[in-house]
Amino acid sequence: MTLRSVAVIGGGISGLVAAYRLRCALGPAATITIIDAARRFGGSLRTVPFADGGVDVGAEAFVGRRPEVVDLLTELGLSDQLVHPAGLRPLVWANGSPHPLPAPTLMGVPSGPDAVAGVVDAATRERIEREPATPLHWDAGADISVGALVANRFGEQVVARSVDPLLGGVYAGTAATIGVRAALPTLAAALDAGAPSLSAAVASAMPKPAPGPVFGGIRDGYGALLDALRERTDAVLHTGTAVTGVRREPAGWVVDPLGVVDAVVLAVPAPRAAALLADVAPAAASAAAEIDLASSALVVLAFPAGTELPSNSGILVATGERLAAKAFTLSSRKWPHLAQRDAVLVRASFGRFGDSGIVDRPDTELIASARADLETVCGVAAEPVQTHVQRWRGGLPQYAPGHLDRVAAIRAGVAGLDGLAVAGAYLDGVGVPACVASGTAAAARLIGPAAARLVGPAAAWPTAVEG
Ligand SMILES: Cc1cc2nc3c(=O)[nH]c(=O)nc-3n(C[C@H](O)[C@H](O)[C@H](O)COP(=O)(O)OP(=O)(O)OC[C@H]3O[C@@H](n4cnc5c(N)ncnc54)[C@H](O)[C@@H]3O)c2cc1C
Repeated sequence: MTLRSVAVIGGGISGLVAAYRLRCALGPAATITIIDAARRFGGSLRTVPFADGGVDVGAEAFVGRRPEVVDLLTELGLSDQLVHPAGLRPLVWANGSPHPLPAPTLMGVPSGPDAVAGVVDAATRERIEREPATPLHWDAGADISVGALVANRFGEQVVARSVDPLLGGVYAGTAATIGVRAALPTLAAALDAGAPSLSAAVASAMPKPAPGPVFGGIRDGYGALLDALRERTDAVLHTGTAVTGVRREPAGWVVDPLGVVDAVVLAVPAPRAAALLADVAPAAASAAAEIDLASSALVVLAFPAGTELPSNSGILVATGERLAAKAFTLSSRKWPHLAQRDAVLVRASFGRFGDSGIVDRPDTELIASARADLETVCGVAAEPVQTHVQRWRGGLPQYAPGHLDRVAAIRAGVAGLDGLAVAGAYLDGVGVPACVASGTAAAARLIGPAAARLVGPAAAWPTAVEG
């Protein structure tokens, strides 16, 4: 059937890409409507005017070795917007002092003691050294938390000081809440294949060094990509409108409060997808309802030009430290294009899964904590000339143990529903490239195999921190 009308529910990057792909495939005659409950599009992507230019106050980077975002920028005529970090290394604040972030590791998990030598004590280093001699029991196909696996083999210090800081950034989670199979698929594969130890499994799962920068960014911020997508999609746009129901009737899909359409893309976070699928796909809804979300907050600080920052891209914070912040991005050091601004920019992030209280603190407290912690970790005590506080309630899905089974159940549950596709960060990876792939895949599902060439590979981001 030729689709004449499609409703895209959720105007984050997943939904916007799905709408854009649908427009490309269906041509100008189709009516494409994007509906978002929030007062603006973009979901977890937002660029605000700040310190003489746009500054991203949600996602600020993407894995540049995946093709989706780079290709999309090119396709939209935005390749001149592609920027790369300066290549400085991050630090980790652990046991009350700064250290180079352990490297090389697989999302913080080392393959031997040398990678974590500076951040863990001698007993932990010896334990990692001896680990290959201790038989490893792993049931092929099993899934446990990254924390349980790493603590059991290498000890708690490796979890708190090397793994948690990275998982806190990618998922706003901790090693205790993120599962091995979804977050570290190559490690799970090595364990399934019978690796004799965790050290051996990490060594074989580590990606081969590749030339070129790992990460990319957008010079004027993600807002430039969102604007271009919105314009090229030429959709009917509704903001501030929460969809409250989706059901199938002989005339088509009924989307409340929009009306009847030929097809629907559901590009909302997992709990909202669960609510909207409850009647049409109860098994998929139950699986989606099991996916938790983590909240976080960002404080952007602009300091007077000339304020000295360490020569590092950022400072991650180990769990268990006496700091409120979980990470600092030293934006003016990390990104050459931001270094040219008239102010020195730093982003402080707060909030890990299970710790939503910190996100609810008043702006003044978050700003005060950001400043106090920044002074502790790198001695910057200057008075900011501008600040911005951004809260992300439920911004990141938790890929807990069993996540891939839940995603398989969601896909199986909607497979028989002609004219309905799901997309979003809870499916194939939380990173922007994976979301772009999921929006493309949702569009391809609705418009058929002819569109399969639009679909890129899907995977989590980033799984490796290279030396
Ligand atoms: C603080 C933070 C930093 C991040 N940093 C990075 C990074 O540097 N690099 C990277 O690659 N990724 C990063 N991510 C992850 C990435 O930004 C997100 O995973 C991605 O943007 C999610 O896009 P999405 O479209 O799937 O979902 P969302 O952006 O959550 O969009 C879903 C949309 O659905 C709407 N909605 C919900 N319910 C309804 C309803 N009932 N009716 C209509 N609309 C509804 C919401 O309002 C929202 O706009 C970060 C995420 C956060 C929160």
